[in-house]
Amino acid sequence: MRLQKIVIAIDGYSACGKSTTAKEVAKVLGYRYIDSGAMYRAVTLYFLDHHVSLTNPKEIDRALQQISITFKVNAKSFTETYLNGLNVEREIRKMRVSDQVSQVSAIKQVREAMVAQQRKLGKERGIVMDGRDIGTVVFPDAELKLFMTADILVRAFRRQREWLDQDRLIDLDEVLENIQKRDQIDTTREESPLRKADDAVMIDTTHITIDEQVDQVIGLAISKIIVNI
Ligand code: C5P
Repeated sequence: MRLQKIVIAIDGYSACGKSTTAKEVAKVLGYRYIDSGAMYRAVTLYFLDHHVSLTNPKEIDRALQQISITFKVNAKSFTETYLNGLNVEREIRKMRVSDQVSQVSAIKQVREAMVAQQRKLGKERGIVMDGRDIGTVVFPDAELKLFMTADILVRAFRRQREWLDQDRLIDLDEVLENIQKRDQIDTTREESPLRKADDAVMIDTTHITIDEQVDQVIGLAISKIIVNI
């Protein structure tokens, strides 16, 4: 018997554990993990490095045609992001990118280009994708949709710890401000604003550990896979 592969869409606010959960769930199920935020971050990095004006549609179109984003799994089984063949995984996590990514992601042309690529990546199903519009726009037919949230201070602490694990100390206020700003832009933009899909399961991660989040999602995924046999 072969189990049918499903699509798992994980959306939610910044820094509430979406990527960490998605990666683990993908590993357990043997699915592909795609970090859609990394794609928007890679576009932002390109725009910054090439001084692309965010108000010039022609320049944006030209730039988008020059951008190729791919993912490769490294020796430690981490998926890393490549921009035009260059590993940009570390660069796209830096504050200069985080500061601009929501403005870039709000641009219609950018979203159209990324959504088209994301749909291609999910064509074969067997994928866990996290982002802001995965269950609402990219895969409205996803078998399992989750919407994650958590207290903003808890999110800021967790994000700061992630930086610390990489030996970088970022002021908590700066982290908090960045998360607040991105949430605000992401939820109020005209194009595909962040919102919970009607059929998404809400998970508040404030008081639960990563292991508990993963267990919860795996449980939900298994029930969907069984229904789809
Ligand atoms: O997931 P991450 O926090 O790395 O995403 C960075 C930014 O990319 C988000 O704040 C949001 O502006 C944008 N994004 C988006 N749609 C997605 C994924 C990310 O607009 N599907």
